[in-house]
Amino acid sequence: MFAQKFSTLTFSTENTYALINITDELLKLVKDSKIKQGLCVISIPHATATLIINEDEEGVKKDILERILALAPKKDYKHNRIDNNARAHIISAIVGSSKTIVIENSKLKLGTWQEIFFMELDGPRAERRVEVEIIGE
Ligand code: ZN
Repeated sequence: MFAQKFSTLTFSTENTYALINITDELLKLVKDSKIKQGLCVISIPHATATLIINEDEEGVKKDILERILALAPKKDYKHNRIDNNARAHIISAIVGSSKTIVIENSKLKLGTWQEIFFMELDGPRAERRVEVEIIGE
């Protein structure tokens, strides 16, 4: 029978930039939903953060962060006159704010080296949210 379950993960961030692995929390939400086959839609209601899927290895995380920051090099952006975080807005717009992952046998269908990360681009923040919609049967 078709089912739908909505959840929110909330956490604070401690640095300007951070990659926070949320895979285990998402796997638990999928398991608790009792939905065996379907889709998990993950989205963030933020304009200065993003979501990525990749390997949880220190070197690759540093490489990804360095390359992603290069998408919006430091300069005198117009938005910085009112709010000094234009780079974070630009990167969030380019990289995106949602991911959809297939659920198969009550698990997220990810590759061996794939983990899901919330990427902070304008921390520290007292509250960041990841909204999770699990649909299927
Ligand atoms: Zn701003």
